[in-house]
Amino acid sequence: MKKSTKKIISGVSKLISKPNPVNIYYHDITLHSGESYMRINKEKFYSQMKFLYENNYETLLFSDIKKGNNPTKKSILISFDDGFESNYEYGMSILKKFGIKANIFLTLDYIGKEGYLTWDMVKEMHDSGLIEFGAHTKTHLDSRLINSNNFKEEIRSVNENIEKHCGYQVEDFCFPYGIYNRKVLKYFNDFGIYKRVYTSDMCNPKKMSFLKPVGRIGIRDEDDLEDFSNKVKGNYVSIYYLKRLRRLFNYNGI
Ligand SMILES: [Zn+2]
Repeated sequence: MKKSTKKIISGVSKLISKPNPVNIYYHDITLHSGESYMRINKEKFYSQMKFLYENNYETLLFSDIKKGNNPTKKSILISFDDGFESNYEYGMSILKKFGIKANIFLTLDYIGKEGYLTWDMVKEMHDSGLIEFGAHTKTHLDSRLINSNNFKEEIRSVNENIEKHCGYQVEDFCFPYGIYNRKVLKYFNDFGIYKRVYTSDMCNPKKMSFLKPVGRIGIRDEDDLEDFSNKVKGNYVSIYYLKRLRRLFNYNGI
């Protein structure tokens, strides 16, 4: 990120209220060089968790939010999408080392497939007290396609399976690809199955009278520690608006 951009972000950030908790997300963790939002290099992930630990950030589980604990100013909700095996293989020991809590959105059909978590891993992670699980549909379908015919299969089946293995009711859902529309929000709202739904947007500019999607910001493999620090400070709302402005004026300086 350019120096001038960073200055603008920190200036604008002072004027915009920040999300609390701040929501950041990852997907896969890799030993090789990473890939934007999809794969974070293990060493980089280590440095980022170390940063949270050394700077006294409080990390939350879904159930911490459910309990209505008032998040402190430095509260972070970390989530991983899709349920990659690397979350267990590489992520767990790093999270354990720094006592950091995280949450994983599971896609039911991926569980047990090569490269993804098994139910045994899910259970072990849950039993550690550091990880909780949310739903991410059965087949990772675009949520706009959810209707009364596939609701049971795409939504209820995921919840039931997590409940069976972990022993709690799932109340958190993440839209695959971050995509949703008013129709699906209303649908979820009417069924009352989830308490919180998450997107991949940095913020939620749409005002809804029902279930309000929670914005999250992705951590990219290219992010340096300063970018990471900016994101966990909640400055991503400013980053979001600056990106929109850039698109509006077709300006590449940001
Ligand atoms: Zn996904």
